[in-house]
Amino acid sequence: MWLVPIEVTFYRGVMSESQGVTEPAEHREYRLAARAWLEANAELKTGVDDWSTQKTHVDPEALVAYFERCKAWQKTTAEGGYASITWDKAHGGQGGESWQASIYNEEAAAFDVTNGFLAATNAMLGTALRFHGTEDQKLTYLPPMVRADQTWCQLFSEPGAGSDLAGLGCRAERDGDIFRLNGQKVWNSMAQAADWGFMLVRSNPDAPKHKGITFILVDMSSPGIEVRPLVQPNGQAHFNEVFFDDVDVPVANVVGEIDAGWSVAKTVLMAESQFIGTSGGREASAVLIDLAQRRGVSDDPVVRQQLAQAVINDRILRLLSQVLMDALRSGKPAPIDGALLKLKLAYNRVGLGNTAMAIMGPEGLVEVGPDSTFAMEELIGRFHVSIGGGTNEVGKNNIGHRMGLPREPGVAIDTPWKDIPR
Ligand SMILES: Cc1cc2nc3c(=O)[nH]c(=O)nc-3n(C[C@H](O)[C@H](O)[C@H](O)COP(=O)(O)OP(=O)(O)OC[C@H]3O[C@@H](n4cnc5c(N)ncnc54)[C@H](O)[C@@H]3O)c2cc1C
Repeated sequence: MWLVPIEVTFYRGVMSESQGVTEPAEHREYRLAARAWLEANAELKTGVDDWSTQKTHVDPEALVAYFERCKAWQKTTAEGGYASITWDKAHGGQGGESWQASIYNEEAAAFDVTNGFLAATNAMLGTALRFHGTEDQKLTYLPPMVRADQTWCQLFSEPGAGSDLAGLGCRAERDGDIFRLNGQKVWNSMAQAADWGFMLVRSNPDAPKHKGITFILVDMSSPGIEVRPLVQPNGQAHFNEVFFDDVDVPVANVVGEIDAGWSVAKTVLMAESQFIGTSGGREASAVLIDLAQRRGVSDDPVVRQQLAQAVINDRILRLLSQVLMDALRSGKPAPIDGALLKLKLAYNRVGLGNTAMAIMGPEGLVEVGPDSTFAMEELIGRFHVSIGGGTNEVGKNNIGHRMGLPREPGVAIDTPWKDIPR
């Protein structure tokens, strides 16, 4: 059989270097400066044993240590002038251009660095505050978020409100200058380590479900909050249940208008989809090719076929992400629905998990070591993206609605929340 040699190419400057496109001198200069800074502050990626690749930390202390390391890297990038590049300087950013952010991300993808879950919360809450926050809120919350002096978790899902998020029931009752919160949230990533949470609460049960929700910022050390980690089948406790028992939160912490938090939530969900969809940065296919070579199966025709598909999927997603991010960062309307990229990533991840196990075979389940830890993470984690940030099915429904297809049948949209059967 004729076999093309497989080359491991960790992603670097996809458009400009590997395809021989000449970039403007200003861009080239910025790229070289970013690369030099990364070389001085980080190590190049090598494979499955990288810090940025190994995400399964079954020991709670190891999970917190990983989170602390992500915070430290976030702080380093802020100090180096490479965090939140396009945000205003007053808000903790660099006041830079979209092409600078793209170039930095291209260069950083070759290095063993990650700010992990912080990148997700910063993208979600950062976008919401920049669109809906008062100037005072932006000045108060954005700079410490960029420096990782304050970390955040998302307090949206509830036992009875995941896909139907607008049906949420966690209660907020006004008492003068405070809201008193009672109820439960669930699946809250890293809530056990976060300093603050951004939360959706039911502030008006008499209004239709989308019109009685408020978006509020909550200090996780407030009396009355209990965080209970949820242990997954692989032993990791990434998620939590969070209980609220008479938790007082200042009304000043509301972002946007009281009872109009659904519009802020939509901004967060859109930013979350875009973030997840454009975050496939580590060229997972390159890690798999490296794994296949080391495990001696890189000439297995079935494995090669799966690896080729993984490379194609990576490249398609990378290029679509680049088109979307370039447009958004330069203030143009999104040329692609961000939810489509998230769907593409979700399907890619399922393929990567299956390929990792095809490479490892039964040893992936019984061996103890970095290769099997990586393969198990890919196997078990392959549905994360299909559920987190909204399931594939709900994503398709939303895309359909935005394309003008009729809504799903259900209770009339103006039914008061308290009268909806549940
Ligand atoms: C990795 C990960 C991280 C997460 N992090 C957070 C977090 O930090 N904060 C937070 O608040 N939440 C978080 N979540 C929760 C996540 O948002 C919910 O799991 C998700 O919205 C689905 O809700 P659910 O689990 O209640 O499932 P359900 O809504 O009960 O759905 C169950 C099944 O029914 C299907 N379904 C439901 N409604 C429809 C419909 N109308 N049409 C077709 N199919 C439908 C779904 O697609 C799914 O397959 C996270 C989840 C994951 C996996």
